[in-house]
Amino acid sequence: MSAPIVDIRDPYDGLTGPERPRLLVVEDDPTSLRLIARILGETYTLIIATNGKDALRLAADAPELILLDYHLPDIDGLDVCRQLHANPLTEEIPVIYVTGDQDPHLEAEGLQAGAMDFVTKPYSAAVLRARINTHVQLKRKSDLLALLAERDGLTGVANRRVFDQQLEREWRRGLRHRTPLSVVMVDADHFKSVNDTWGHLVGDECLRGIARCAAVHLKRPADLLARYGGEEFVLLLPETDAGSARALAEMIREEIRTRFAQASAERGEGPCLTASFGCATIIPDEQASPETLLRVADRNLYLAKTGGRNRVEPAL
Ligand code: GH3
Ligand code: MG
Ligand code: MG
Ligand code: MG
Repeated sequence: MSAPIVDIRDPYDGLTGPERPRLLVVEDDPTSLRLIARILGETYTLIIATNGKDALRLAADAPELILLDYHLPDIDGLDVCRQLHANPLTEEIPVIYVTGDQDPHLEAEGLQAGAMDFVTKPYSAAVLRARINTHVQLKRKSDLLALLAERDGLTGVANRRVFDQQLEREWRRGLRHRTPLSVVMVDADHFKSVNDTWGHLVGDECLRGIARCAAVHLKRPADLLARYGGEEFVLLLPETDAGSARALAEMIREEIRTRFAQASAERGEGPCLTASFGCATIIPDEQASPETLLRVADRNLYLAKTGGRNRVEPAL
């Protein structure tokens, strides 16, 4: 028996592109699949898996929600759910169980295996849509919170917390593989006088400009740009030797100098901002620590400042 389709508009109706939620539907019964497609196909992009193995493979492609049938031809739904939950790539994707079984133990087991919700067949189309919408909205909110927790609010680059975590991680990786790890401290020159002369809003815009100048030169996925605090940024460069770190710092220094000089010339006013750079490179070993690297970068930044600013002080 199939429930009537109630005509209610969804918040996601009519959306296209990345705004349109992608749902992974795991269902082996063609009749059930057709019904689901009729209820959800207008609102969501449906990805279909008809067995557990395909479900696990397609789940790695980051759907926003998984609708999981309990009885599948190969792996049973509970197992699929446990495996999804055990994999860092898929553990955050909400799973809604759909089953024809009325056994109350099954519901408890499903929820314990990591499912968010449970729907028994025959279901009302309106209830299914409402539950899916709730979970998609919750997922989007929690994704946004996770993103905000990692970003610096002013410039949008990684924050200090992410840098500290990543530094620890890369230090351990460098220790295992004996590969060089570089850090570059970046500090805006005479920034207090930029604020004093042009105001804090212009100062804020300058900080966003520095972040953009640095970001365009970071090419490798493991490289990280973070706001270290105030008018200071930091680059974390795994598997990068002193010469390469210095060359990168030089490119960013020159990018900042020319960009701000150009903008000032074009507008006929505005700060000709520059920045100073302190580099440090270490092949991690048991005697040193990530703090050693930061101390050296800090000392070299100080030397770049006392040496005249708008300068790179290399690690060696
Ligand atoms: P130096 O060349 O020696 O680095 O001089 P400086 O003026 O840049 O250094 P100082 O540490 O004296 O001043 C840093 C200034 O950066 C003071 C502070 O108000 C400003 N600043 C820190 N964070 C922000 C921010 O988020 N926005 C703005 N507009 N200014 C900031
Ligand atoms: Mg089935
Ligand atoms: Mg400073
Ligand atoms: Mg400064």
